[in-house]
Order: sequence, then C-alpha cells, then structure tokens
Amino acid sequence: MPPVLSDVISALDALWPPALAEDWDATGLVCGDPQAPVSRVLFAVDPVQEIADEAIERGAQLLITHHPLYLRGTTSVAADTFKGRVVHQLIKHDVALFVAHTNADRADPGVSDALAGALDLRVTGPLIPDPTDPAGRRGLGRICALDRPLTPAEFARYAAERLPATAQGVRVAADPAAPDRPIRTVAVCGGSGDSLFAAVRAAGVDAYVTADLRHHPASEAREHTGLTLVDAAHWATEWPWCALAAAELDAVSERHGWGLRTHVSHRITDPWTAHASSDPNTTPGAPN
Ligand SMILES: [Zn+2]
Repeated sequence: MPPVLSDVISALDALWPPALAEDWDATGLVCGDPQAPVSRVLFAVDPVQEIADEAIERGAQLLITHHPLYLRGTTSVAADTFKGRVVHQLIKHDVALFVAHTNADRADPGVSDALAGALDLRVTGPLIPDPTDPAGRRGLGRICALDRPLTPAEFARYAAERLPATAQGVRVAADPAAPDRPIRTVAVCGGSGDSLFAAVRAAGVDAYVTADLRHHPASEAREHTGLTLVDAAHWATEWPWCALAAAELDAVSERHGWGLRTHVSHRITDPWTAHASSDPNTTPGAPN
C-alpha cells in the first residue's frame, strides 16, 4: 500500500530529526501536498534544474535533497528566477521537495558516516559530539582509523579513487619535508569543513578530509601541526550520503510494506566543470 507524503515525512523526521538542524538552516518540506501518494523517491545533493528534470523524468513524487532550495527565505516563488522555476516545475508535475541538511549531518548515521564509508574508513566516533546523545554517536564530522597506514600521497590517491569523480578532483596539503609521514587516523566532514579545524587539531588526527578549504584557515592549520589536508569537491563529499539515505528509507518502506522505489541521482551537480593543472616547476612564466 503506497504511503502518502505525510507518512513518508514522519519516517524522514525520525531518521534526521529536525531538532538536530542548525538554527540558520532551512530543512523539511519545501513544496508538496502531505496527502498525495508517494511511490517513487529520488535522492540528490542539490535542488537544481537538472535534478528537478530528473525527478520528473523518473516519475518521482518526492525529491529529497541535502541542500536547501531557499536558505534565507523569500517573498516570491515567481518563475523568473531559477529557484522559482524549480518550484513551479515540481508543483506542476506533482513532485514534492524535502530537504535534510544539517540534521542529516548530525544524525546517526549521518553525512560524514557515508563519506567515511565511501573511503572505507573505520569510524571511531564523532569529531564534535552532540552532548544530548547518550550513545555518543551523533555529532558533526567523524574520526576514523585506517586499517593500514598510508603516506599522504598514497592517501590522496586512495581518496581520489574512492570518491565520485569531479572536475576538481582532490587537492592535498602535506608537509613536503615529511613525505613518508604515516596517516593512521583521519577526521572527515562532508561539505564545507574549515570551521571545524579547532576540533580536528584537538583530535590529534594525521589527516582531514573535507571540502571548500580556504587559504587562511588551511594555511594556519598546516603551520600549527603536521596535519595533511585532503580537499575534495563539495558535491563529492556529500553525494555518498544519498545512497545511505536511500537505503535507510528502503528499510523503512520494507518494514511498513510501502513498496517505495528509491533512486539516487548520478548527475554531477558540483558547480566546477573543468580543471587545468598547473605546476610551478614546469609552467612557463611562473615565478622561480
Ligand atoms: Zn553541503
């Protein structure tokens, strides 16, 4: 018996409790009729036009994204902006949009568990534990262990092979004076992680995998410690959560006999589309 949207939302709220979201966040239902039946669900990172198109092509009644469509509120959903067009198109085709953002980051399992899983890392606990969780499993980021130590160059290759391919690839900041320093412990944070550097340093890990690292925080983190930084495309660090989330909803569907069909979008919605390598040792015109 297919559920109605409000039944599915109750299940989603149990997986990623809205109370776990940051105050500034905008999670939950963006559009959709709570009484409408749901049989197909699409998971994606970004609520952009090509993902809305895919939801319609697949005949989904529910699109679940990690990133909010409107983060700061709006006074208009007119179709003269891309966001308004997405809302119009989804409503016209009876597709609901639901967002699980920082509540999915903090949940157990959460976005960083999926990133650790994609990297085959053993999670030992959250990087910033949620004090309200007696089990000590919820929180931001995860601390992980490698089964065998790798050098920074080996670990970077390892990460690049396991994360979904993007134009950016994987950037590394390692100490050139210690190319063989072994990496045994790693902190991971899906999405923009440079606000967590203090916790990463306090955890005393050998490497940090995240996205969107800026010059100054990254530079300072490297000066303070021998930490190796691995910066992947934002989308690539969060996309593994889509499969985890779909599997969690599949399990709920099976328990209730809902017969939901879930899909994960494979469309790469990282905004960066090309990458030109440059090497100061070989690029003509570079300062010596
Ligand atoms: Zn993100």
